[in-house]
Amino acid sequence: MQLQEYISLRPYNTFGIDVAATSFLEINDISDLEGIEADTKKLIIGGGNNLLLTKPVDALVLHNKLKGITVEKENDTHIWLRVAAGEIWHELVLYVVNKGWGGVENLALIPGTVGAAPIQNIGAYGTEIRETIDSVTFWYWSEKKLLSFSNRECEFGYRDSIFKNQMRDKFFITSVVLKLDKVPKLNTSYGAIEQELAHMGVTEPTVKAVAYAVIHIRTDKLPDPAQIGNAGSFFKNPSLSKSSFDKLLAMYPKIPFYPVNDSWIKVPAAWLIEQCGWKGYRIGDVGVHTKQALVLVNYGHAHGQEIWDLSGKIVQSVHERFGIQLEREVQVW
Ligand SMILES: Cc1cc2nc3c(=O)[nH]c(=O)nc-3n(C[C@H](O)[C@H](O)[C@H](O)COP(=O)(O)OP(=O)(O)OC[C@H]3O[C@@H](n4cnc5c(N)ncnc54)[C@H](O)[C@@H]3O)c2cc1C
Repeated sequence: MQLQEYISLRPYNTFGIDVAATSFLEINDISDLEGIEADTKKLIIGGGNNLLLTKPVDALVLHNKLKGITVEKENDTHIWLRVAAGEIWHELVLYVVNKGWGGVENLALIPGTVGAAPIQNIGAYGTEIRETIDSVTFWYWSEKKLLSFSNRECEFGYRDSIFKNQMRDKFFITSVVLKLDKVPKLNTSYGAIEQELAHMGVTEPTVKAVAYAVIHIRTDKLPDPAQIGNAGSFFKNPSLSKSSFDKLLAMYPKIPFYPVNDSWIKVPAAWLIEQCGWKGYRIGDVGVHTKQALVLVNYGHAHGQEIWDLSGKIVQSVHERFGIQLEREVQVW
């Protein structure tokens, strides 16, 4: 596709923020990346589901449309799929569960592209993509060649990876290799999956049934960006040391929590935000979702800066009340 100039990015971000990009290029083939210089200012967009645009994008926008799924190798227990980065994550999940392979069923209906998934190590319902990623291949701007990182080299953490840190702005992910189970081990213990399976009348769950249980639960719970602009969870759930958590628990005995390990405890950011009275808050076209305090929304024509400002007020009030510093999950331009 030809380079386009001064186009609106509104259709390319799920917040529905209307800012212009100086130039815009669709990436349909790896060769489209070869002529782009390392020092060119760029913004890569997949589905735009985790992006807040606060100002015009004075950079080259690269819209990832790389497609294709191939079998890399297989044995009796596993299959390794190489998936091009522009494939839609949820469509891949449906493809995988229809084959009966396990590993990604709990991640059904997470919006976005396959290439963005390792960047923040997408996760839901007790599973993270790091559990199935074998390797990530990317175009490395400074050397103008493809490189691959093994799972370990990706340095995955909670909504985190090397791609958000040391490698920031140095790469374009072109494909991901997933190692999937031919003999799936299901994880139905998280959230309401078991209840939903019972509701569906499933007595012997399969990967497909688990994926559909997750789809039903998510459809009920999460606001659809097609109806109301949002980027899913705006903040990460903070982890507290055991001693900090114990002090908080003494003050707020009803605080929900999830132990991460013996030393760290995670608390839901949504609960903290709700306690500060933000749930359902609205000013102009910007607000906090009425049912999900973790989701900031654009009711129509909000500016990205207004959403950013609201997020700052939330961070401040949670800090003042609980002494906890919330971290934004959404990527900000
Ligand atoms: C309703 C809703 C629900 C959500 N639920 C979840 C959830 O349950 N769990 C979860 O983890 N996330 C969730 N998210 C967040 C989002 O789905 C994920 O972050 C997803 O991976 C974003 O994919 P994307 O293609 O839209 O990325 P984009 O928003 O387009 O990009 C995100 C970031 O990655 C960079 N990037 C994208 N593609 C590439 C590439 N190929 N190479 C280099 N850099 C790239 C971008 O520059 C940007 O910084 C949700 C979002 C929404 C709107």
